[in-house]
Amino acid sequence: MKAISVLGSTGSIGTQTLEIAQEFPERFRVVALSAGRNLPLLVEQISQHSPEVVALADDSLLPELQDRLNALPTDRQPDTLPQLVGGANGLNVAAAWDTADLVVTGIVGCAGLLPTLAAVRAGKDLALANKETLIAAGPVVLPELKKSGSRLLPADSEHSAIFQCLQGTPWAENASLSTGVPTPGLRRIQLTASGGAFRDWEAADLEKATVADATSHPNWSMGRKITVDSASLMNKGLEVIEAHYLFGLDYDHIEIVIHPQSIIHSMVELADSSVLAQLGWPDMKLPILYCLSWPERLETPWRRLNLTEVGQLSFRSPDPAKYPCMELAYAAGRAGGTMPAVLNAANEEAVAQFLQERIHFLDIPDLIDATCERHKSDRMDHPQLDDVLAVDQWARDVVREQVERGTRRIPMAAMAA
Ligand code: NDP
Repeated sequence: MKAISVLGSTGSIGTQTLEIAQEFPERFRVVALSAGRNLPLLVEQISQHSPEVVALADDSLLPELQDRLNALPTDRQPDTLPQLVGGANGLNVAAAWDTADLVVTGIVGCAGLLPTLAAVRAGKDLALANKETLIAAGPVVLPELKKSGSRLLPADSEHSAIFQCLQGTPWAENASLSTGVPTPGLRRIQLTASGGAFRDWEAADLEKATVADATSHPNWSMGRKITVDSASLMNKGLEVIEAHYLFGLDYDHIEIVIHPQSIIHSMVELADSSVLAQLGWPDMKLPILYCLSWPERLETPWRRLNLTEVGQLSFRSPDPAKYPCMELAYAAGRAGGTMPAVLNAANEEAVAQFLQERIHFLDIPDLIDATCERHKSDRMDHPQLDDVLAVDQWARDVVREQVERGTRRIPMAAMAA
């Protein structure tokens, strides 16, 4: 029986993790939950899983959560009432909860950084979904992992695919658990990308892109921020940086290939030129389950892959002119130090502004580019945690400033016309 702490339990990753826990009650026990603001769903989850502790990011909502729990009918009361904690410290408590063996990091954005670090410092194993943590603070997180002995199991489907492929190699024991040290014998990674919401759009038509368009993913059902990142291919760019930190390859050996069917979740090329791939239907429950059950594989009744049903697997190179975010991510990754943190924060803020319809989709790369440019002269090679937090805040402020000044490629009035 593995005890798990689920951070971001009310989100897409969190709810799928809890579905798995419900499906395998003899294998997994939920001991800690954390959420942002979604109280109705959180109360359902507490009633279902009876965790020992529950953290709310917004601590002003704690009294309301308590009231909602008290108001549950007797037959839906949890076995024991959980300890309720709030704010940044509360998230850290849930992340480092004593009885947890493994922490699933399903908080979206850099808000996941401090709780992830708290889990690492407490020596917990991690199912890493919150890629923004590693991208912003790879140089801080990796040494902490080494110190505490925590193991980093990738929940992102692409990195899980790479991790799974490497399990079949003699050096599997050290592959990605994770030191950022080059994985011996691993020559090249090919990250597959669905191409996101705009994969079949002409670049010129992106001027008409709306929030509804950008948040309709053709293959995966995910949170809104990552769905927009998929549409801009920033998600894949962030995954390139994530792969660099996880598997230790330089950026010239991590490639992106558009694979519209999302059946191959990524590929590795090994020293002898063999290429290994991991395949499956696009369903995040598979990589999450592998994190939870690793190194075992559990029997599931889930839909089995039938390639004759798929018919064709196709591949093409992404067009850099259509997806400028991809190039920005490579450039920030290559620059290293604090630059990926700036890229990540600028992207988070720009996407938030886009989701509020304050900027156009095409403004996102422009805002990120301008912010990264301004950071060039201040970039630090070996940042500490405080440096990462400072540049993260700075980059968000710079994006907000630019939006306030109205430096937009396409004025919103013109879009509406
Ligand atoms: P969602 O938006 O669906 O969920 C986000 C979760 O984080 C919710 O529980 C939300 O709480 C919580 N949250 C939001 N803001 C804060 C905050 N400031 N402090 C604490 N908690 C907060 O996101 P996803 O599940 O899609 O993504 C989560 C992470 O996993 C992201 O880093 C993403 O890149 C990564 N990922 C996701 C995949 C997917 O399929 N969804 C695939 C691969 C990676 P509430 O809703 O209660 O406010």
